[in-house]
Amino acid sequence: SPNLMWFRSDLRVHDNTALAAAAAEGPVVAVFLRSTAQWRQHGHGANKLDFWHRGVLALRDILHGLGIPLLHRDIDSFDAAPDALLALARESGARRLHFNREYPLNERRRDARVVSAFEEAGLTAVGHHDGVAFAPGELRTGKGNFYGIFTPFAKAWHRQITPERLALRNAPGAQTCRSIDSDPAPEPPTLDQAPAAPEDWPAGEDAAADRLARFLRFRARHYAEQRDFPAEPGTSALSPYLALGMISHRQCLQAVLAENGGGLAEGDLGLTTWVSELIWREFYQHVAVGFPEVCRHRAFQSPTEALPWRDDAPGLQAWQEGRTGYPLVDAAMRQLCATGWMHNRLRMVTAMFLAKHLLIDWRKGEAFFMEHLVDGEFAANNGGWQWAASTGTDAVPYFRIFNPTTQSRRFDPDGRFIANWVPELADLPAKDRHAPSPEQRVTRDYPAPIVDHRTARARALEAFKGLTP
Ligand code: FAD
Repeated sequence: SPNLMWFRSDLRVHDNTALAAAAAEGPVVAVFLRSTAQWRQHGHGANKLDFWHRGVLALRDILHGLGIPLLHRDIDSFDAAPDALLALARESGARRLHFNREYPLNERRRDARVVSAFEEAGLTAVGHHDGVAFAPGELRTGKGNFYGIFTPFAKAWHRQITPERLALRNAPGAQTCRSIDSDPAPEPPTLDQAPAAPEDWPAGEDAAADRLARFLRFRARHYAEQRDFPAEPGTSALSPYLALGMISHRQCLQAVLAENGGGLAEGDLGLTTWVSELIWREFYQHVAVGFPEVCRHRAFQSPTEALPWRDDAPGLQAWQEGRTGYPLVDAAMRQLCATGWMHNRLRMVTAMFLAKHLLIDWRKGEAFFMEHLVDGEFAANNGGWQWAASTGTDAVPYFRIFNPTTQSRRFDPDGRFIANWVPELADLPAKDRHAPSPEQRVTRDYPAPIVDHRTARARALEAFKGLTP
């Protein structure tokens, strides 16, 4: 009898732990459960849902070439997953199901229900750790706790990493016996708006591999110097692909090993700096398991639940629409809405601006990012927001508040990024684009700053005092 392989956010046939395990046992039938309503409830918007859909179509083509049928079902919520999978097992005659684990709380609950439903039916569902080098909980502090701070986590990661953990899993070979046909290609999901820039994000593992190769060839060695400059294409832009598993962290790390003479911690500074970003990604996945309250909209630093967040609908809207009067913040927010992606430096700047300058609850910003990001991933997004709001792990000290104008002069020195996304300021001399004069604003129909940096900073310091370490 065949095995079922349940694809979720691991849309690739190469280096896929669960798929390799399923294929090692015999013929495979692939299944995908599209849970649009549940994903909407988790905050994902059109950009990610469209990318997910196109990723499934790309996967379907590759599976087809291997003779692996893909069965596709729409379910409303995760609650329907056990019955849907049991029905597919009955229809295909499969006795075993394989899947790669997802770590946020709802996903873990769903998977636990599937495992017990299969057990009750006398069948087996096996979860594999695939998206991280260490299963959450494998790396612990001297006291046996999950790490709540990145640097010691990264040190432990480097100390304990082994070649076996990073070894690429076997891709399945072509199958011949084909008693089951693929379902017809699924229709696109119903979205409440058109995806922003699907042409920027070709889906599938071939597109991802191509992006990785180009990054390594042209940019990786300059990553350490260029990664903070949003006008430069200095980073990999692989985040949407990693988030949906169109590429694996092992494939990325193997590519580094090959380029860097076999090292991950030492060697080329660009490559090793990039490795540490991949470890950040893994760190936040562990945090979601070790500190599950973060999956329930709670702050990691619980005293910060007492922060007096301001109810400021016009301020929130100005931030969302890129009309705060701080050109770098506005450029970044417009980039997010227009492309579904934002540069990491700017995610930090805009998140801190919302949480500190506007003193608006970080959860509102987290939700807005999730709605727009094509790479929206619970653990990284929540981790990034709580970092910026000083409520999280490693939280920036509350008194370190980025000055958005200084950040602009430093990281967009010639104002190119601003000119691109805030075209009304493009005709200004570069040095004026960071903080135009009142006259320059009026004649260009660009708003005055919605808050004064010093006043806002003092207000945030007062609010945060005594609530964070
Ligand atoms: P690169 O610089 O090329 O890094 C390689 C990979 O490492 C990324 O693709 C990503 O998978 C991972 N990575 C890099 N930085 C981080 C980080 N700080 N935390 C976790 N993983 C990281 N990343 C997401 O993938 N999804 C999100 O929803 C998300 N939300 C964020 C929200 C905020 C407020 C902040 C500050 C950061 C967020 N990040 C998120 C992390 C980071 O900004 C993006 O991963 C990065 O900008 C993606 O660009 P890249 O692929 O070119 O990254």
